[in-house]
Amino acid sequence: MPPTDPTHAPEPVARVERLVKIHRSDTSEVQALRGVDARFAAGVVTALVGPSGSGKSSLLRILALMDTPSAGTVVVAGTDTTSASPAEIRRIRRDVLGIVRQRPTHNLYPQLDVVGHLRQASAQRGLGRRERDAVVAHLLDTVGLAHRRRSRPAQLSGGEQQRLAVATAMVGTPALVLADEPTAELDRESAAAVVELLGAAGRAGAGVVVATHDPAVVAAADVVYTLHHGTLTSETGTATGVTHTVIDDAGRLQLPPEVLARFPSRRATMAIVDDTVVLRPEEPS
Ligand code: ADP
Ligand code: MG
Repeated sequence: MPPTDPTHAPEPVARVERLVKIHRSDTSEVQALRGVDARFAAGVVTALVGPSGSGKSSLLRILALMDTPSAGTVVVAGTDTTSASPAEIRRIRRDVLGIVRQRPTHNLYPQLDVVGHLRQASAQRGLGRRERDAVVAHLLDTVGLAHRRRSRPAQLSGGEQQRLAVATAMVGTPALVLADEPTAELDRESAAAVVELLGAAGRAGAGVVVATHDPAVVAAADVVYTLHHGTLTSETGTATGVTHTVIDDAGRLQLPPEVLARFPSRRATMAIVDDTVVLRPEEPS
């Protein structure tokens, strides 16, 4: 362990370093993540945005320990998951992770009613009986499903199903909540309810990571990470409005499209003026 440096940011709930994911099939090879460095802090809602195919789901599945990286480091709740034992992985899944999938029905069991889902999640989290009843009552209230406690998924609207999915993921207040396009199939009102719940998880101290195309989710996030072609290209703090372009460990910098358009020859001259680095398009010769 490195010595503690009080000037350093606290250890995040999750971080990835030089993360590479290659999806291989018999006929093809797709590099979904090309060396991503990112930190996900406690109490912070991070929106992962980027075009379809940019690697959002690949990153989330690795953070969720549903998939393993091809290279790089994944640290969740202080444990390096690439070298962790199966028992440690099980413990992280049980105690640390809360996962919400895009399809409401993929999060739910058709034969279980609303209360059944919350009880089952409580049992999986290892909560005792008394604690369990309190947690179930609290979550039913929080997600507004108390009047639906005996309904099964098929009897719920898509919005209600997804609220139940979020409630189930929040049982036991996991430190890392991961959601892949959780509002993609919801009407605006239901989406707003899900956004509110994810925000509440963040305010309660969880690190929340949400892949999304939904402007309402982005607006509610504290930080926005943009992925392009498997590379993290920018970080924006929504409170400060400041966008940081990410420079990877190899010194590579990805320019946003509007800036890239100023470099038609794809060559630049670089100068350091006082403490400012100036990039100029190569003069036509
Ligand atoms: P996003 O969630 O941003 O749309 P994904 O992480 O799903 O991006 O996909 C990134 C790239 O990896 C895409 O080119 C996608 O086709 C490819 N990909 C994702 N999962 C698999 C898989 N299981 N097998 C092969 N290719 C995959
Ligand atoms: Mg995806």
